[in-house]
Amino acid sequence: MARKTFAFQLYRTKREKHLHQCIDSAGGIYNHCVLLQRRYYRRFGGYINYYRLKKHVTRLKKWNRFAHWNLVGSQAVQDIVRRVDLGYQKFFRKENKRPPKLRKRWKHRSFTLTQAGWAYAGGNLLSIGGIKYRFHQSREIEGKIKTLTIKRMPTGRFFVFFSCDIPETETIRVKTGRTAGFDFGLRRFLTGNNGEEIEAPLPYRTALKALRQASRSFSAKQRGSANWHHARLHLARVHSRVTNQRKAWHWELARHLCQTYDAIYLEDLELRGMQRLWGRKISDLGHGNFLRILPHVAKRTGTSVGLVDRYFPSSKLCSVCDMVNHHLGLRDRQWTCLACGTVHDRDYNAAVNIHAEGASSAGGFPVRSRESV
Ligand SMILES: [Zn+2]
Repeated sequence: MARKTFAFQLYRTKREKHLHQCIDSAGGIYNHCVLLQRRYYRRFGGYINYYRLKKHVTRLKKWNRFAHWNLVGSQAVQDIVRRVDLGYQKFFRKENKRPPKLRKRWKHRSFTLTQAGWAYAGGNLLSIGGIKYRFHQSREIEGKIKTLTIKRMPTGRFFVFFSCDIPETETIRVKTGRTAGFDFGLRRFLTGNNGEEIEAPLPYRTALKALRQASRSFSAKQRGSANWHHARLHLARVHSRVTNQRKAWHWELARHLCQTYDAIYLEDLELRGMQRLWGRKISDLGHGNFLRILPHVAKRTGTSVGLVDRYFPSSKLCSVCDMVNHHLGLRDRQWTCLACGTVHDRDYNAAVNIHAEGASSAGGFPVRSRESV
């Protein structure tokens, strides 16, 4: 069995206020648990385990003062307590530097239901806590629904996520007999060793003006005021439009590449270092995001993706004679090999090297698949 998640946006409706209340209450429970743990830690130096915490919350729900907590079903409560518990476990195992933090109410994003508290009988009609909601059903839901998560996006819209169990299907791939190596670039998103050039649309750039204006207006508002919340939502909407466009393009590109090639070789990126070097343009293009999407599509289509070690000198190596040009600067778009005299396009040369390196050591060191990491 495999897990697959289907996401849909809910219709706008006044009944949304129930969802707001649910999420706000879930946030209240979360914060209550965190505060409780803090107090316990100060006094006894340890933390309250999952079962005691769950029992405690269940008891509090019977009190009048916490009556609104009952909006959150018992399974969602379990989910919250589990998350707090996990945060503390990680903190005590020193995997996290800090214990879970308190969250602002509007920052609390979601609640998850498993078996109870919801009903779905097909179509785009969904009932949560006895209240009916419709969603924009952009595709069929496959398999058996295991959990349902309602998420409040920063834009103020709600999404429903159906997490489903679907039977694993074997991928039958028709081999294309083609492999390719690609170099990530700032000007061109990808340059292939076969000359394929993939330009990135820069939705972020075109929306930059709107984004700047929105963020300026946001920072001019008084924190916490009604106008501030309006501006916050507007800014979030501009952001989300940009992100969605970029994401859609990444999926489309991943599908295109996986259908065209049996094996794809790319350079593993040290994104943080690149961001320091190049600034916003990198996050603009979303190389890292693309590297996360590609293995998903590859797995489905039976394509292999190999990542060439980030220390492999793909740009500085002459793809004709293997001389390493140590003087190659970051901004040199073209260079001439001193040993063999070949004039190289920086990105194309790198792509040729990545392809050769990937194909020669496929499966072994230093090529590694991100999935196996
Ligand atoms: Zn050379």
